[in-house]
Parts: sequence; C-alpha cells; structure tokens
Amino acid sequence: MDDFLSVETQQSRLAAYQDAHRQDRDHPTLPPASALRSAESSLPAPDSPSYLTPTRPEDVARHITADILPALTGQARSSRYYGFVTGGVLPLAQWADALVSHADQNVQVHLPSQTVATAVEDSALRMLAAVLGLDVGVFGGRTLTTGATGSNILGLACGREAVLQRKGGDVGELGLLGACVKAGVTEIQVLTSGGHSSLSKAASVVGLGRRSVRELSTTSRGEEPWRLDIDAVEEHLKRPGTASIIAISAGEVNTGRFAVDGMEDMRRLRALADEYGAWIHVDGAFGIFARVLEDADEYRLLRRQAQGIELADSITVDGHKVLNVPYDCGMFYTRSLPTLQSVFTNPNAAYLSSGATSHPDIPSPLNIGLENSRRFRALPAYAVLLSEGRAGLARLVSNMVRLTRRIAGFVRTSGHYDLLPTPADGDEAVFIIVLFRARDPALNDVLVDRINRTRQMYVSGTSWQGEKAVRIAVSNWKVDVDRDYRVVTSILTAVAEGREFDLSSC
Ligand SMILES: *Cc1c(COP(=O)(O)O)cnc(C)c1O
Repeated sequence: MDDFLSVETQQSRLAAYQDAHRQDRDHPTLPPASALRSAESSLPAPDSPSYLTPTRPEDVARHITADILPALTGQARSSRYYGFVTGGVLPLAQWADALVSHADQNVQVHLPSQTVATAVEDSALRMLAAVLGLDVGVFGGRTLTTGATGSNILGLACGREAVLQRKGGDVGELGLLGACVKAGVTEIQVLTSGGHSSLSKAASVVGLGRRSVRELSTTSRGEEPWRLDIDAVEEHLKRPGTASIIAISAGEVNTGRFAVDGMEDMRRLRALADEYGAWIHVDGAFGIFARVLEDADEYRLLRRQAQGIELADSITVDGHKVLNVPYDCGMFYTRSLPTLQSVFTNPNAAYLSSGATSHPDIPSPLNIGLENSRRFRALPAYAVLLSEGRAGLARLVSNMVRLTRRIAGFVRTSGHYDLLPTPADGDEAVFIIVLFRARDPALNDVLVDRINRTRQMYVSGTSWQGEKAVRIAVSNWKVDVDRDYRVVTSILTAVAEGREFDLSSC
C-alpha cells in the first residue's frame, strides 16, 4: 500500500500506465468463447465437498486473475469497444477509484470536522457544473448517483414532487395517491421524444408507470423522430386533471441527436412549463458533454443545440461514460434543493445529524439522494476534472467527435452501407454516435455478429424505423483518430466483402 500511496511511485506508474494503456488499445473487445467456458466451469460448485471451505487469499487472487479476468469484455482496454455508451477508465481515475476502496469513506452525513469527503464531492460537482456551463448558484441541488438511470429516477421523483406540490399535494409526506387526491390530479404524464429506456424504468420506480411516458416526436410531421414536437407538448399540458414532466433527450441514444434545437426551443418550453406548472428534466447523460467542446466552426451546431439546458429544473449527467471514470458514477443537478430534500429526506435519525458549522451549505448526501451509506464515488471524477481541466476535457470529447465524424463520412460514401438517420445531414450534426445499416439485407441481418466476431471492434445492434441497424458509440479516452479509423474502415470493408479481417494490415 505504501507504493500505492507514494506520489513518486505513482508518477512513474501512471506514466508507464498511460503508455501501456495506449498500447493496449488492440486488446480484444470480447473474450474468446473458450475463456468464457472455462471461467464458468471454474466457479465454485455448490455440490463440491470444497464448497465454501476457506481458500488462501493468494489462491483466490490467482483464480480471479487466471480464470475470471480473461472472461470479461475488453471495454475498458480496447479503444474500439463501441457498444452502448460505455466510456473507458482514465488511468488517474482508476488509481483514485482504488483509493476510494482503500479509504472506504461512507459519504452519507456531512461531517466537516471529521472528513473532507463531502467537501470534495461538492467541489467535484462544482467543477463539473462549471465546465458544463451550469451556474451552481442556480443549481443548488446536486449529488452523485450510480449513473444516468439513477439520476433519471431522481429527476422524475423531483418532478413528481414539484408538480403536485404546486397543486397542493406533497408526495414525500402523503405518498403519491394522497398527494394526487389532494391536488385533484388524475394523471401525471412524462412528455418526451427519443427518451432513453431508463426513463420508462424511472417512471415505473417513482410510481408514475411506464405508460405515463408519451412519445411526442415530430415523426408525424415527417421530421426527425428524436425531435420533440413542442406544439404537441403544449396540447398535452392543457389536458385537464394532469400534471406534467417534460423530459428532454440531450442526446438521443440511437443517434446522439438533440431533442430540441437550442436556446429558442428551450425558452419556449420553459415558458410553457411555467405557465402550466410542469417540470423540465434534461437527460444529458452523454449529450451534455457537447457543451465542453471548444468554440470552433466544426462544433458550432452541436454547441448551439446543447444551449438552453441550463433552463431545466433538473439535469442528468453520466460520469462513467464520456468522463471516463469507472463504474458506477453519475451526477444529478436541480435548481430546487427543497424539492430534492422533500423527496429524499431521511427523517428523525438523531444519530445521523451533521451539526456542521463549517460549510453549512453542503447538505448531507443522505438527505438528497437514494442511498444512505454509499461509496465516495466523487473522488475519481474529482481527479479527472482536476487533471484534465477545461482544455483537457474539450480535447477528450473533440477526439471522440472527430473519429465519429470520419467513420460517418466513410459510411456515407461507402457502396456497402447506408448512413442513418438522415444521411443528407452534414458532419456537423454528428456527435459521438454513428447509426447505419448494410445495404444487402442478408448481410444486415448478421452484421452485428460479423463485426463483433473480429474482436477488434464491438458495436451494438438496434432497430431503426422497424429494421435492424448498427450503432457505433465512441466514448473511450483512448481514441486514436487515424489508427482507429483505419481499423474500423478495414473491418467494415472486409465484413461487406466477406473477407477475413487482418489487424496486421492496418
Ligand atoms: C446510458 C444512458 C442512460 C442510462 O445510463 P446508465 O448510466 O446506464 O444508468 C440514460 N440516458 C441516456 C441518454 C443514456 O445514454
């Protein structure tokens, strides 16, 4: 542990590590089937006589490194794991994460005379807000979560609380039924377009139900399906007996596109929400990071589309994706700390009171989030924000965008593939996701498997307008634009031509 805590040792280790990690970028995206089989058969068998007999720690460590590790995906190690939106792990973040376990802080009560942990969390949340262009004076409610799903649950829980309180109900005290009866509300609706699946999950968790989520996209007008139809939102807000949460996707998960077109749309939604007592939640899990891009021509459109997020009542940010800290880490911001407290207050536990006199402005995390006891998960994010700063984060994200755009350009002009969703759009609409399909329907049917079988590139399958499609989501800090572009395009070409892919040719 001494080595681990020595800055000198860490300095050389991190430098070597950074290099090793870059070299590791050709690490297979998926383990071989044989590794998966032998790992599974190495798991303890309940009918074995040795089941749950003590094992020497070194043997446990040997088993884990020899059997378990080789049977995990290479999502952190490969630079071309493009499934879901996973991010990777910056070496410094990995080190900080190990320190989190080492110190094992329980970040639930703000105890500034005993630990600086809550102040570090607040500092990380403030730095992140600053790089994302959010005013912490406005976003007084902020906390760390387990990820974007966790943050979306907080967002809908706060929305539910606020929209009913405005009509005289109080969910935190009365429960949803009692609050709805008191407020004269017969339905709470979540109005969205291209909402992430976790939004429906959140709606179920907070008692609104998955069916409360209404897709109000502009598709019916023949436009982009991720775009929110604000006229339709207005119509829904007017429905009698309802209370509403407007959930904006800033970026939609299949396309990376934005549900609203920047400030003008957001101003209109803000005015509507104020008029009808609705709550605006922005799911900016990865899309909000468009706001860290430098002010350059190539990013003008993205920066414009990501404007106005600051007008929301609550905002979801993911840490373990674009920020490249380890799982699990998400952030939640709201302009209404009282609403957050009204939902999450952990009442009447005298032994958990903080009695803090310094930093009295930092609320105890247990009163503003789902958990009581929890991990000091801000530390890796704190480390990344400090080490990268504004410029480093801008570079991190722009590298991702540049590779994504080059791949989109290849797909657009390729004879084998069709770029989706709107191939006519120029590069400037592309953020970190490429959606496409093979022109040959037989190939399209097996495309995900053919690509993933190379184990040098991993993609997710999805469905787009009723047909299979493939998504590439670029979110790893290891992106090497030129080399990754060469590998990706030779994989896509080999797969389309029915040839074996050969990494050594790249
Ligand atoms: C990934 C993602 C989520 C879910 O995030 P988790 O971190 O997996 O909980 C929610 N919304 C969007 C837009 C996402 O991309």
